Amino acid sequence: MILIQGGTIVPVVSPPVEEGYILIEGSKIKKIDRGKYQGKDYKTFIDAKNHIIMPGLINTHTHIPMTFFRGIADDLPLEIWLKEYIWPLEAKFIKPDFVYYSSLCGITEMLVSGTTSFCDMYFFENEIARACEDAGIRGFITPGVLDFPTSSFKTPRDAIAKAENFIKNYMKHPIIHPGIAPHSTYTCSLDTLKKCKEISEKYNTIFHIHVSETKKEYEESLKKHGVSPVKYLHNNNLLYENTLAVHSVWLDDEDIELISQKKAKISHNPESNLKLGSGISPVKKLLEQKVRVSIGTDGVASNNNLDMFEAMRITALLHKGINLDPSVLNAREVLKMATLYGAECLNFREIGTLEEGKRADIIIIDIEDISTIPFYDPCSAIIYSLNSRQVKYVIVNGKLVVEKGEIKTVDIEKLKKIAKEYRERIKNAI
Ligand SMILES: [Zn+2]
Repeated sequence: MILIQGGTIVPVVSPPVEEGYILIEGSKIKKIDRGKYQGKDYKTFIDAKNHIIMPGLINTHTHIPMTFFRGIADDLPLEIWLKEYIWPLEAKFIKPDFVYYSSLCGITEMLVSGTTSFCDMYFFENEIARACEDAGIRGFITPGVLDFPTSSFKTPRDAIAKAENFIKNYMKHPIIHPGIAPHSTYTCSLDTLKKCKEISEKYNTIFHIHVSETKKEYEESLKKHGVSPVKYLHNNNLLYENTLAVHSVWLDDEDIELISQKKAKISHNPESNLKLGSGISPVKKLLEQKVRVSIGTDGVASNNNLDMFEAMRITALLHKGINLDPSVLNAREVLKMATLYGAECLNFREIGTLEEGKRADIIIIDIEDISTIPFYDPCSAIIYSLNSRQVKYVIVNGKLVVEKGEIKTVDIEKLKKIAKEYRERIKNAI
């Protein structure tokens, strides 16, 4: 058992608890209470005085094997960025070994910055799963499906068969939660999209898809299908409660209404949308329509980091600015987006809050740092002032993976060396 004693507990679903304790048994939270724990039956003790204890952050959209492409091509439009840089590099480098180490690098960055769960769309899913297990992060891994060949599959039929196999193999895994990810409505045929939906329904897993990221995508859908990408999904019965629609920047009022009616979920990726000049998702309207909106960073090739504290802060600020209203997306709401709503978007309600019986996915943050002094309100500190370097302990599924700010599960020096070796090869290929 692990005992976390002292500090300010932020359960997210209920008011903060000052000077309490959390007892973890196995993979779950056994007890949360005020005061001092009197028992002696714990193996590990964490002194959380002057710390915030909160649920681990949930990043609902990444392409984690692209971590070694961080900073490879900045300040370019999405089309050129993809066609001239990312796709040729992927064709050359994406192989199982690359995927494992590049994923491990991104996963380590996420863990030390307080993210305990992420939802990924990519290929070589078994390698990503292996990196998750080795590092000890919770991975919602959704194999990507496209109509054109990749280094992982030749046809969409192959891709779907591989995804189904992966789902079967990992369905009951404690920290790997499989799903399926048709890339988008412009890279997958209707037949491919429908087959993916069948798999998603059969296994009750998420249907993870990029939707209405750019104005171009929205306008081309109008030209090609006569309707917006959201209406195209809806008209073909592809918008439902397991649909995780990523980006959703270009939405009209009817799209928002349909997303709400069908209880589809949204992953909001503000930093990627800003950096690629794609626009700003109408998150205020979506939340007003009771749509579940979570937060994602997207891959580091378009962000260029996986820092969810930064993503939360930008989310809170951005929507106040464009709505000319400082009360929009208050700190409590944004905190829910990165925790509770993330869990709901991923259809896994055992995480995202601190409650007895839930999985122990917990982060502990030092608030004695000069940037968080003086300390009045934990939600205010989490969203507006602290930074991810203040995360000191990270527990995933009851296992301590970051201690005193250091990752315990990954040989970081070895990983840095491998990243540098790949850098030389990638640099020579550009
Ligand atoms: Zn993406």
